[in-house]
This record gives sequence, structure tokens and C-alpha cells, in this order.
Amino acid sequence: MIYLDHAATTPVRREALEAAWPYLTSEFGNASSRHELGLRAADALANARAKVASWLGCRPSEVIFTSGATESNNLAIKGIALANPRGKHIISARTEHESVLQTLEFLERVHGFEIEWLTTSEDGAINPSALVAAIRPDTTLITLMTTNNEIGTVHPIADFAAIASQAKVPFHTDAVQAAGWLDINVERSAVSSLSLSGHKLGAPKGSGVLYLSNRLTVEPLIHGGGQEAGMRSGTENVAWAVAFATATENLAHSPEQLETRASEIRNLRDALVEGVLEHIPVAKLTGPALDEPRHPAIASLIFEGLNGETLLLELENLGVLCSSGSACAAGKDDPSHVLLALGCDPDLARTSVRLSLGHETAAEDVETALNALVTAYRKLTANP
Ligand code: PMP
Repeated sequence: MIYLDHAATTPVRREALEAAWPYLTSEFGNASSRHELGLRAADALANARAKVASWLGCRPSEVIFTSGATESNNLAIKGIALANPRGKHIISARTEHESVLQTLEFLERVHGFEIEWLTTSEDGAINPSALVAAIRPDTTLITLMTTNNEIGTVHPIADFAAIASQAKVPFHTDAVQAAGWLDINVERSAVSSLSLSGHKLGAPKGSGVLYLSNRLTVEPLIHGGGQEAGMRSGTENVAWAVAFATATENLAHSPEQLETRASEIRNLRDALVEGVLEHIPVAKLTGPALDEPRHPAIASLIFEGLNGETLLLELENLGVLCSSGSACAAGKDDPSHVLLALGCDPDLARTSVRLSLGHETAAEDVETALNALVTAYRKLTANP
């Protein structure tokens, strides 16, 4: 089986699970208990927090462990908006993940916020001057993702954060797909808050992190015992926090390491995409061109005239697993909201296939996947 759906989820790394194991078994204490077992759990949690903080370039007190990026996005966006520093105007884009879009829809519907959607270019880019122009005295939050999970567009997050900071508006970024591939150091980018998901970086599903700058005023969403600096009450999931922190150790940290990893995977991605474009005349890459700034491991293609679902099934029969777009919207037959936001025709959007590579993807996997794509295409078009 060749797995090219790493943007949907990744396997848990052995060392992450092994590090978590004691906190599910012998070291099962509640991190709030005052006895020995509780103190050891609290220590493990503090170590995990410090490790994540040093990776992100922030203070440990700015790391909130959550159940995943959906929760992190909800907490940052609702939490900042409801603390209401300036008014009820929020700036975002329609290419964001559903966990951002639906949170904004909720704020609009229930709390009367006005959401301003920035225009994106055909490849998903946002012009920084459009962001400058959209900021108003009542703008309370700007939320724009670091990199798109379907088409791989990379936003100039440090530039956006600088614009926001100059206007004294908090800037949130969903950095889920960037972790391990792009620089997400918050000291360098100066974002106000940043969401991460454990299961995209080798930790279990149901683990996540929200970086929340100490400078922010935020309303918590979950009230109770005041854990996680009052931002997320409930007994801490020590094991998953430990697993998350351990998984980050395997990721590239410095910009130089990131570039080395990214360039290796970029070569594989380019070989795959170029092969598809060469052998399948109806194929078209969506998002930025290969030589433009884009996520190194994600590529989405549309195949005019083919049925995307049938193509995916055919690929699966040939042992290649990938998806049509965001797995979070799976189960729905709707075409990708990202492609629609870029102005793609709905029928054409339904033909999309997203190929997302992982740290373990090898050149042979790419070759097999390319052969499978060409075989599936020929079969579906009876074009030997
Ligand atoms: N944002 C992005 C960009 C994602 O790709 C995902 C996962 N598909 C999420 C948020 C949600 O993450 P989680 O599954 O941890 O809730």
C-alpha cells in the first residue's frame, strides 16, 4: 500500500507512543493531585510544555494543550473575538479550513460579528495590501492559515502578522499543515496565536496545541477547574501531551533543517506531479505553480472529464491511497470549498485528487503512484 494522504493524517511515531505509555499505565496520576503520582504527572506535563515551547520559540505558559486543531482554532478565534478588544469585525478568507470557517459562521450568526473575506488569487494567494486595506478601527481579529491543506498555498505569515501588529489587531494562524515543513517559530513570525494538530506530525489523533501569546486577552470556551492556565478546564491528557512533545523532536527545527527536509520531499512531489502532467493530458495542477512558494509535500490536481471518486477508487484498487480534498469534509459529496473559493467550476472541482507525501515517502512510492495514476486514467478513458 502506498499512502499519499499525509495531509489527512499520519501514523503515530513509535517513540511518541512509547513516551506516552507510562502515563496511561503506571504513571497514571492526575496532574492536579498533590501526591507523588500526581506530581510526577505534573512534571511530565511541564516538560512536554517546555519542549513544545522551545520548538515554537515561546514561553511554556503560552502553550495550551488541546484535543486537536479544531479545538485550537475554536479557542483562539472565539476566545479572542468574545474578549472583544476592538469591535465585531473579523478578517479571513474562504480558503480556510472548515474549523475556522464554521467558527466564524457561528460568531456571525450568534454574536453578530461581521466577517470580511479577503479576495484570493486563482492560486489562493492574498495580497498583503488587501489586508492593510481591510483593517478597520473595529477589527478585532485577523485569521489566515499558514499553508492551505488542499492546494498547498503558503501565505507570508510574518508579513501579515506585522501588518496586524502595526494596527494592534490580534493575528491568528492555523499552522496545522506547516508543522515540520515550514518555519512556524512564533518569535520570528510574531503571530498572536497559532494552532497545531498532533495527528499531522506523528502524535495521536485527539492531541493538539494552541500557542496563545501572553499579551492576548482571551475568553476560555470550557469552564471548570482552571487547568491550562484557565484556558481549557478539564483533567489534562498528560499522555497525549507527552506524545505530542516527543513527536516534535523528530521534526526539523531550524530554517536550514526545514529547507533540507523540504527540498528532499519537493523533489519527489515534483517528479510525481510532472509525471502526471506529462502522461495525463487532462490533468492540471491547482494552487501555485511548482516553482512558486507552496507546501513541499502537498499537490492537488484536477482531471477534466474524469470522475474524481471513481479515479480514487481505481487508485485504491491499485494500492494507492489518497483523497479528493480535505478529509475533514469527507462523507460530504460537495466539491472542495477551497477550489470553489478560487473560482473553479463545481463539476471540475469534483474531479480533484490531492496527493500528500510524508516524511517516509520514498522515490519508489512516487514511481508506483505515478504508474497507478496513469494506469487508472487509461482504464477510465479506455485510452490504451
Ligand atoms: N486545520 C487544518 C488546515 C487541517 O488540515 C486540519 C485537519 N484536517 C485541521 C485544522 C483540524 O485538525 P484536527 O483534526 O486536529 O481537529
